[in-house]
Parts: sequence; C-alpha cells; structure tokens
Amino acid sequence: MSGWIGVAEGVHARRYAALDQTLGLVVGHTRALVVDTGMHEEHGAEFAAAVRELTDLPLTVVITHAHFDHFLGTAAFVGAPVYAHPRCAPAMLERADVGKWAEHYRGQGDPETGERIARARVVPPTHEVPDRLDIDLGGRRVRLLHPGLAHTDHDLAVHVPDVGVVFAGDLVEQGAAPSVGPDAHPARWPGALDVLLALRPETVVPGHGEPVGPRFVAAQRDALSAGST
Ligand SMILES: [Zn+2]
Repeated sequence: MSGWIGVAEGVHARRYAALDQTLGLVVGHTRALVVDTGMHEEHGAEFAAAVRELTDLPLTVVITHAHFDHFLGTAAFVGAPVYAHPRCAPAMLERADVGKWAEHYRGQGDPETGERIARARVVPPTHEVPDRLDIDLGGRRVRLLHPGLAHTDHDLAVHVPDVGVVFAGDLVEQGAAPSVGPDAHPARWPGALDVLLALRPETVVPGHGEPVGPRFVAAQRDALSAGST
C-alpha cells in the first residue's frame, strides 16, 4: 500500500505501509528533488515510477542517512546526482543494518523482501554536503543541511523555505518514538532538532509517519532531552 499526499505547492510525500515510511519529492520549474529512495531496488523502482507520474523534470536525489530503507532504492534513479553527508557513503558501503533487516523479514515469513534487501546494490553519493548546500530547482531554492549529530552522525535535512517545509529524515518520527540505534547520538539529538525548529517550519515531514507541525517536533525534542524515548 502506498500513495502520495500533498504537503505544500509542489511538495509531495509518498507514504508506505511498510515501516510506515515516508519518501519525498520537491518540484521546481527546471528540476525536482527526490528525498530518499526506499528499502530495496524494487521499492526504488516503484517510487521512481510514481515520481514520473508527477513530474518529467530531471531529478536530483538526496539521501538523509545510510539506514537501509532510505538508500537501497537509489539504483532506480540512474543518472541523477546523489547528495549526502560525507560520512554517509562509508556507512552505506558498510551496510551495517542490511543483514539484520534481511534476516528480520525472512524471520517474519517474508523471504522475498529479505532477498530484495540483501541483493540491493549500493549506489554511492556523487556529491558531498558536509554542512549545508543550496540547490536551485528553478524558481525554487532548497537547502540541504546537516543539523548536527542526532539519529546518526551524518543526517541531512531538506528545507524548502518558500513553503515552510522541512524534510527531517529520521530525526523526527510520527506514530512511533524516534529510533535511537547504536549509531545514534541521543545527547546531541535535541540540539539538532533545535536547528530544524530555528528554520521556523510550518510542516515537518518525518522519515516515518505523517507530516507534523513544529509543536510535535518540540515535544519529541523534549522527550529526547528527558531520555524518555
Ligand atoms: Zn534511520
């Protein structure tokens, strides 16, 4: 199950039942930006086809971080420049969580998804964003930014200032508590959310769950600060 939801003018989120995941699309006049690519190549192909239903503009890809469900679909976006934080590529190539999740699906009686995750090719980024970078989509400028150590040591967020939207990757989760894994920096995470809140977003699109408002993000920041997630 999957479907688009409109977030703002030319800003779309594609929702998936699997992992309650949310992928993104920002459309300008001359280019469109894809935010994350899905959990395996078949997922990426489905997402790429769905993107092509909305726009035929040249695509740029940004990977928010190197967890399997965010980057293993990139092969479907062949030829597109791929932006990520410099620490993202080594983490992708390490594929630290790929074996674990392939096993998870096999154990759940879904060996096909397990195989798809296990065999997905890693497409390394073509461009590094160590701090922040503006991308001109034609009549619309978006900013990629690394808000600091948080869900991983290499998260990127996407700010679309003309409509007050921030794609937060897994710094924000709706419908579940933020995922604090072994590669997370829980003590620094609230500070990274403050960086996103300082952008004064009207809408924040999480990596999993429905788009939320700034008050939701502030509450998640406070929960992380209290160590209660
Ligand atoms: Zn993640």
